[in-house]
Amino acid sequence: MNVNMMSADIKKVLITEHQIQEKVAELGAIISKDYQGKNPILISILKGGVVFLADLMRKITIPIEIEFLGISSYGKSTKSSGVVKIVKDLNIDIRGRHVLIIEDIVDTGLSLTYIKNMLIARNPQSLKICALLDKYEARVQEIFIDYPGFQISNEFVVGYGLDYAEKYRNLSYIGVLKPEYYKQKGDYNLK
Ligand code: 5GP
Repeated sequence: MNVNMMSADIKKVLITEHQIQEKVAELGAIISKDYQGKNPILISILKGGVVFLADLMRKITIPIEIEFLGISSYGKSTKSSGVVKIVKDLNIDIRGRHVLIIEDIVDTGLSLTYIKNMLIARNPQSLKICALLDKYEARVQEIFIDYPGFQISNEFVVGYGLDYAEKYRNLSYIGVLKPEYYKQKGDYNLK
């Protein structure tokens, strides 16, 4: 399946590559200013946050470190249960460090709340959240996003790291899948 073939599965482009890159540059500039002299650790949540991290880190002009946290949700793939299993832990101790979580999308907010609490228990000096997409209407657990990208409506999106059944992560834009590509699977509630 090449990228053009994947595009045929997309109902509409929600956020273009250009819009994403502009936002990433904007966020990179703010983060560079806020974390001057702090050598923060950017923690990307696998796998969805990887594309965002890769672009964002190159728009940050101060020294940073990167780490990866691998999680898997219990339950069906497109619904959050709020309980996440750590499948790959951090390689370093974050005690006393400035930590910035880099997340692709906040939906119910359950996964990120779980991750945030888990990391806070490790006593970092600070912990903040940067999320490219905010599906605010779907929120079950309130969570403050320190560095937000775009607010989007409650639709299932793919691309720019986000998948459906492990596909579409390599699209350079954010799109909405045609319903026939996932609806019949019955694991996502369409509004
Ligand atoms: P939450 O716990 O906030 O409901 O779920 C967050 C995770 O669910 C995200 O990191 C992402 O993996 C997945 N997710 C939520 N909404 C979407 C979506 O619209 N598209 C995709 N591909 N994943 C989503």
